[in-house]
Amino acid sequence: MRLILMGPPGAGKGTQARYVAARFGVPAISTGDIFRVNVSQGTELGVEAKRYMDAGEYVPDEITNKMVRNRIDEPDAAPGFLLDGYPRTLAQVEELDGMIKFTGHALDAVVVLTVDRDELVQRLLQRAKTEGRADDTEEVIRRRQEVYAEQTAPLLDVYAERGKLVEVDGMGEVGQVTSRVFAALEAASGATAG
Ligand code: ADP
Repeated sequence: MRLILMGPPGAGKGTQARYVAARFGVPAISTGDIFRVNVSQGTELGVEAKRYMDAGEYVPDEITNKMVRNRIDEPDAAPGFLLDGYPRTLAQVEELDGMIKFTGHALDAVVVLTVDRDELVQRLLQRAKTEGRADDTEEVIRRRQEVYAEQTAPLLDVYAERGKLVEVDGMGEVGQVTSRVFAALEAASGATAG
């Protein structure tokens, strides 16, 4: 199973990624989490990435692509993976296409979580209180939303044209959203098989 989980900042990708990945027995690979681990450990990658993350900007494709390539090459990702937070640019889409093609597999589906704008802001401000992420300030949140709209939202059209996009309502309780994701993926794979 090779899945991508998409959605704007605050849509609940990280939360859902864990459940969905567990269900399919594949690792959840979150680029945001990998960057944050590197930042906290003060690695070279972390020092470089932090400059962009703190400003709400994307880390350059070259750095991000290389990091994902290395992660996907690890043995636990051989049976498949769920990507959370990647790809986010058209260049990353192309890079990922190459990575998957190289292994002789195909992308199964791209799940996008849709959430109202007001709810997104509320969730991020709440997370700012509980997790204290450096990029969860009001100003940086606004910038992250702009960058998502400019650079990442267009990817939805790309995957829709390929017939891979699965839209899921991300409003409501975590468990409800998880059930919707499972149901939508089942329906999508049934549609492909039949
Ligand atoms: P969010 O909840 O805002 O979607 P993430 O935790 O997924 O945030 O990512 C945090 C930050 O890490 C992003 O704002 C960006 O700077 C960097 N990042 C994560 N994934 C990517 C990517 N695919 N390309 C470039 N930068 C990325």
